[in-house]
Amino acid sequence: MANELRWNPILGEWIIVASKRETRPWRPKTCPFCPGSEETGYGWKIKVLPNRFPALRTDAQTSIESHGIYMVKPAYGYCEVIVETPMHEGDLCDIEINNLKEFIDVLAERFVKLGSDPKIKYVFEFRNKGAAIGVSLHHPHSQIYALPFIPPRIKRELKNAKKFWSKRGICLFCHVIKLEKDFGKRIIYENDHFIQFLPFFAMWPYETHIYPKRHVQSLNMLSDEERYALADVLKVATKTYNTLFDTSLPYIMAIHQKPTDGKDYSFYHMHIEFYPPNRDKEKVKYAAGIEWGAGTFTYDALPEERARQLQRACVKAIRELASKSYKPFGVCKEYMQ
Ligand code: ZN
Ligand code: ZN
Ligand code: FE
Repeated sequence: MANELRWNPILGEWIIVASKRETRPWRPKTCPFCPGSEETGYGWKIKVLPNRFPALRTDAQTSIESHGIYMVKPAYGYCEVIVETPMHEGDLCDIEINNLKEFIDVLAERFVKLGSDPKIKYVFEFRNKGAAIGVSLHHPHSQIYALPFIPPRIKRELKNAKKFWSKRGICLFCHVIKLEKDFGKRIIYENDHFIQFLPFFAMWPYETHIYPKRHVQSLNMLSDEERYALADVLKVATKTYNTLFDTSLPYIMAIHQKPTDGKDYSFYHMHIEFYPPNRDKEKVKYAAGIEWGAGTFTYDALPEERARQLQRACVKAIRELASKSYKPFGVCKEYMQ
């Protein structure tokens, strides 16, 4: 069994190679996360489990030696699963608000705990939903990869944010909030502490970003009130997605926080990005030739048009949540012409 990092000298990035992951169960018949299962037991609302088929481990072994620019390192790290609810079906929008707030507490707690290992440079927390994304278990869950390096996407964000900070003396993300608020037409939902918008620079058809209004670098810096507000946005945002085409929409939810290598990242601003792959109810956008082969995305509509569709869905979503006796904290910024 090997868990190793192999360096791609051409792109300058690490690949995580894990030989045992191939044997992981693909959509097993009995759910390993439902209450009463061997792994989870009874009497819980939210559960953190070690990933049984981890790509990273603290006792990682390599299968081959480094050879010049072909560098190999043990894939040191942690892979955890957060089972957000005892309910076998559903999305974040179906989880009760106090339970969702607790989910955010757990994300914050694991970020601090795993990040305190001096060998861990980045704690990546994310959620995959739906068969189209390749989810192997349907029971609602999120994942954590605690990595011994800063992943390339985050590195690019840090580089640009740092450059902007030193040139302009302000935060790049705070500035994006200002631009989106000035323009207004791409904002989907907003409460006192968070704002959700389809960015000017969206890459996926219905990609949206959620930014805290306060300049913070990680989830553990959020107050209790802000955590409830985040739970509220997550509830409304996922409900909006599921309302958009009247179908349970698959998505990737990525949480971008500062690295945990102890350096100063006060120029950074944490946020959450949602990428649903769908372009409509049935059709999915693939990262194909131009996107994957060249790394350049095409967007085949106007972001402002799609933002409008999401705003309409958000109005409906809020109404539906209210009919199930949940009162959203904020408002949908439906754009009226
Ligand atoms: Zn289950
Ligand atoms: Zn900021
Ligand atoms: Fe980001």
